[in-house]
Amino acid sequence: MSLLSGLTLLLFAYLTALPAAATEVVWPTTMDRGSIRSPQDYLQPTVSGKAESALFGMVREDGKRFHEGIDIRPAKTNADGEPLDLVLAAMDGQVVYLNPNVNGPYGRYVVLYHPGAEIPVYTLYAHLAKLEPSLRVAMPVRRGSVIGLMGHTSAGVSPITVDRSHLHFEVGLILSTGFDRWYGAQAENRASANHHGLYNGQNLIGMDPLLVLGQPRVDLLAAVRSQPTALTISVRAPKPPDFVKRYPALVRGDPARAAGWYVEFSWQGMPIRWTALEASSPQLPAGRWRLLEIDPSQRAKLLQRKMLGADGRTAGEMLTQNLEILLSTAR
Ligand SMILES: [Zn+2]
Repeated sequence: MSLLSGLTLLLFAYLTALPAAATEVVWPTTMDRGSIRSPQDYLQPTVSGKAESALFGMVREDGKRFHEGIDIRPAKTNADGEPLDLVLAAMDGQVVYLNPNVNGPYGRYVVLYHPGAEIPVYTLYAHLAKLEPSLRVAMPVRRGSVIGLMGHTSAGVSPITVDRSHLHFEVGLILSTGFDRWYGAQAENRASANHHGLYNGQNLIGMDPLLVLGQPRVDLLAAVRSQPTALTISVRAPKPPDFVKRYPALVRGDPARAAGWYVEFSWQGMPIRWTALEASSPQLPAGRWRLLEIDPSQRAKLLQRKMLGADGRTAGEMLTQNLEILLSTAR
């Protein structure tokens, strides 16, 4: 099955699924959902023109570049081509971050947190022309409420032209409340301050938004768990990382008694299952952490994502970075 025909099926499920008990999700723009007949109707591709480039995954530059969300095109534009679509909160939640400045690749963006979901995910809405002026950090938001106007703001290496205006939508988990400490300790960051606190993209790990946007009601925990394990590691951690306290549904065993953890990662670097290791466990690494197993069927993607080094057997820079951020509160 091709990627796009698979998507068409997901879309069909979205339009016809019967609600089950779960978190209610709305489409995050004012596009008329009934007008969506195929993925091309809502995807905004990169300059490559390939529809897949708007999806989540290793979809850019012949599979070498990761895209951590999906890009949703405008349904309506003005005479200058500027989008008229409003951007909407996808689920009930609260505002946790507002960036009204164009000072990074996301441009103007909003981050919401959803503590009422089966697992507390964040959603992120980037490249906005304007933020809804009444929004304040810590304010509750209802699903479907307006949080901004779609745009094309970005201070990334390649600007987004008006004809490629879109909403970049992300959903996922927050790695660590110790992010600032980790960021400040990196030599390459000496010249560039972290403007975004915990809501810097490096501290957010996304998953495929179509696991969430594909249906009117979603069990977010089931969506996180539906991601297969791509590699496993063990870590030594005298104090539990704050990640295991924020996401106890991903944890097996007693954090209070853990000397370390067996951690299963998805291919893009989300630590999706944590098992507490006692001090006597033979899996506890001699050093700080150790790469244990790799799913050979996911090795190619792990290499592209730099979860593995070029040799395909050792940890790559993305895995190392995510682990260091995760462990920044565990010393
Ligand atoms: Zn995007």
